[in-house]
Amino acid sequence: MTASLSSNVNNVKVTHPQVIVIGAGPTGLLVASELARRKVAVRIIDKRDARQEISKALVVQARTLEIMDLCGLIEPFLRRGYPAPGLNIGLHGSGKGTVDLRRLGTRYPYLLVIPQNETEELIETRLNEFGIKIERGLELVAVRQDADSATATLRDREAKIHEVRTSYLIGCDGTHSAVREAIGMPFEGEDIEFTTFLADVKLDAHFIRSRITNFTGQRGFVSILPFMGEYARIFAVDFTKQDIPVEEKLELSDLQDTVDAIVPQRVELHDPRWITRFRSPSRQVPFMRQRRVFLAGDAAHSHTPAGGEGMNSGLQDAYNFAWRLATVLRREGPETLLDGYHEERHLVDEQTQRETDRMFRSFVLTNPLLKAGRDLLFRSALSFPPVQRKISEDLSNIGIDYTFTQASQSEHHSEDAAQDCLSAGARVPDAELWRPGKPFVRLYECLRVPSMSLFAYVAADRLDADRALIGSLMDALKRTFADRLARTIVIDEGLPQEVNAGAEVLVDHKGQFASGLGAVHGRVFLIRPDGYLALHRSGWSPEKIVAAVELWLMPAVVPKADVLPQQSGEPADRLQLASGPHPSRTGR
Ligand SMILES: Cc1cc2nc3c(=O)[nH]c(=O)nc-3n(C[C@H](O)[C@H](O)[C@H](O)COP(=O)(O)OP(=O)(O)OC[C@H]3O[C@@H](n4cnc5c(N)ncnc54)[C@H](O)[C@@H]3O)c2cc1C
Repeated sequence: MTASLSSNVNNVKVTHPQVIVIGAGPTGLLVASELARRKVAVRIIDKRDARQEISKALVVQARTLEIMDLCGLIEPFLRRGYPAPGLNIGLHGSGKGTVDLRRLGTRYPYLLVIPQNETEELIETRLNEFGIKIERGLELVAVRQDADSATATLRDREAKIHEVRTSYLIGCDGTHSAVREAIGMPFEGEDIEFTTFLADVKLDAHFIRSRITNFTGQRGFVSILPFMGEYARIFAVDFTKQDIPVEEKLELSDLQDTVDAIVPQRVELHDPRWITRFRSPSRQVPFMRQRRVFLAGDAAHSHTPAGGEGMNSGLQDAYNFAWRLATVLRREGPETLLDGYHEERHLVDEQTQRETDRMFRSFVLTNPLLKAGRDLLFRSALSFPPVQRKISEDLSNIGIDYTFTQASQSEHHSEDAAQDCLSAGARVPDAELWRPGKPFVRLYECLRVPSMSLFAYVAADRLDADRALIGSLMDALKRTFADRLARTIVIDEGLPQEVNAGAEVLVDHKGQFASGLGAVHGRVFLIRPDGYLALHRSGWSPEKIVAAVELWLMPAVVPKADVLPQQSGEPADRLQLASGPHPSRTGR
């Protein structure tokens, strides 16, 4: 029998969710919270009765921190975590190599070390601020979809079955995803053949307190990562203990024996809080979308914890997906925006998987010649600045961009596109901007608005001459897109002056906007909510610029719909959307 189920959250009854998120790990939490921030009616369910209080992913990479900044969530992360400047790679008997992140071109040039359960807690708190609570004790058991809707079949703690019909369903339900299975999506790849040891333990050793340190030896490798408090994560592979079944309990004495054999200094382990054997999958789905169902995070790709990328990929999937879906559901952008999610994230996730597998395999080499080659490569190559920069950018995900997509490529070849500036699809670096009588504002703070942002760059000494043209452009943008497009004029120096049409005027007093984006007088930039450049144009032509923005946003004359599928003939205006703070220029 099917029971009806509606969610009561902070007195907000989400009777007609537009989206249901399956799984409240880091990926699902960020999807739900970013949809809720954009006023989408969302429900999030999880089969567990409570959050798992184990550390799992300890590292938040620089690009993920930038995303937290774009969400307005960065402050609590910085308060809770500790910034590790990079990695040391200890090479058995032959010195060490170092990856130093301190010169990365980002506001966050480090790995932020914070246990996954705390990351989840911070995002869940944010979600709750928007009036949405995780509905626990509900397990997804089946998915059905038709042209207009996706229906989730859920089983509660008493084995009662409930059906929830929505416009879209997103499976963030981890490596063993029931959503993936329900839609018959393959999970291609294999499990890595090595068993790893994972443990959170206290240890007595000074040398590892400041950064992640890896040791390679004849018997395998050991990676030691200290986190806040007295605990450190040990991640190890011991070639001599591979025939022990992965299900068998790992004893501290066993791990101590492995550490003693591989780490040159004595490191005393005690008080294990979490200790386990683990075998990583190395798998990915061929498609992250099947009509009205999407997959994200470990449900879509899963790989070794080497490099600390798993949770980071999931959080970046989540952010890429959420702003697209919200824009489509709010009828502010074309449905094709949703195709961009698979096009962008699948290739990036595939590359991450390949790199982390390669890194893991380089640590588990057994052939002495290959090992000697690896050690030589680590020692010598890492001392070259270009290699150091490439590795740092890959590890931190700062190097990720979407310049390879069809939209970016056709933009690149468009004759209207400005030349010699940041390419379409590239990551936009943050920049500090000035406005009189108020604190400096950063570009990333400006991008916290729900939808797209347009910036027009003006040289102060040409403002008077171009004032009327700029005014017409801003008028046309306001008339066409209303509040779905944030409009800002950035002048290169001097005092901001009113231009018109409600566009905010900011000053590039440090020249960071100009150097980061390649901005000169007369350039117009359209930036996505996730901090990637959608496109750029030269000149103030309202026709050309409105037409360019229409590639991403629909004109505001299309009426907004609060809800897509109606379940019971109830009028759309009865739908109660997620309540909560609405983002503004000043942040949250
Ligand atoms: C032992 C271990 C160590 C790791 N170490 C690291 C590390 O150091 N660095 C790193 O980056 N990554 C690490 N990872 C990987 C990282 O934890 C994952 O990449 C991350 O948790 C993925 O987040 P997710 O939200 O996509 O999935 P998950 O965190 O797996 O969350 C999935 C959620 O879905 C729920 N769920 C599952 N099935 C259903 C269903 N049928 N119905 C309803 N709910 C369901 C689950 O209860 C769970 O809450 C580690 C993983 C493990 C297991």
